[in-house]
Amino acid sequence: MKGAKAALERNDYEAANTIFRNMIDSGQPLPEEMPYLFAETLFQLKQYDNSANFLNKYLELTGFTGSHYEGAQALHKRLETPLKEIIECQLCDRRGYRYKVCFTCEGKRQIEQDCNYCKAKGVVGCSRCSGSGMVTKMNIFKIVEYFECDRCAGKGRLTCPVCEGSLKEVSSCQTCNGSGKLSSEDICDHIAEEAHEHI
Ligand SMILES: [Zn+2]
Ligand SMILES: [Zn+2]
Ligand SMILES: [Zn+2]
Ligand SMILES: [Zn+2]
Repeated sequence: MKGAKAALERNDYEAANTIFRNMIDSGQPLPEEMPYLFAETLFQLKQYDNSANFLNKYLELTGFTGSHYEGAQALHKRLETPLKEIIECQLCDRRGYRYKVCFTCEGKRQIEQDCNYCKAKGVVGCSRCSGSGMVTKMNIFKIVEYFECDRCAGKGRLTCPVCEGSLKEVSSCQTCNGSGKLSSEDICDHIAEEAHEHI
């Protein structure tokens, strides 16, 4: 905790971040003020969503009695604008991380693949005649008669009902759950790509 505080005094937020994370990973009981100081650190690192989480945890644990009560209230205020910007921005996820284009579907949301139903043959066996093209009926004299299957017109095969003979099947991209985008590790500045290029 001393190390983290020293890092904060030097404004070395990256170092403080590392120390706090090690404290959490160690599983040791955390000092009462830790969630607040970590929230301040995360704010400086622009991880606003996570900062709000730790700030809320601090307020939950200490209520009105925390030694950083006023600082916590001030941080709560400072978080309002950046959190609002995240919610309003279409370019980042709810935690403020920039979206990137899905590498599987390249942003198309769907992918085309070989039809699974017909195994990319375009045809399937006719179920009425079991693929023989003929059906049998017993006439009134108990004699078996053969007829051409009317479902497949005697061909024994039908055009695949899933791909309709195209051999391809279009389905929602599994990688991005059909959204066309994935979250990245980059904190969003809420400025569109095109605008960046003109700066
Ligand atoms: Zn995708
Ligand atoms: Zn048939
Ligand atoms: Zn098919
Ligand atoms: Zn954004």
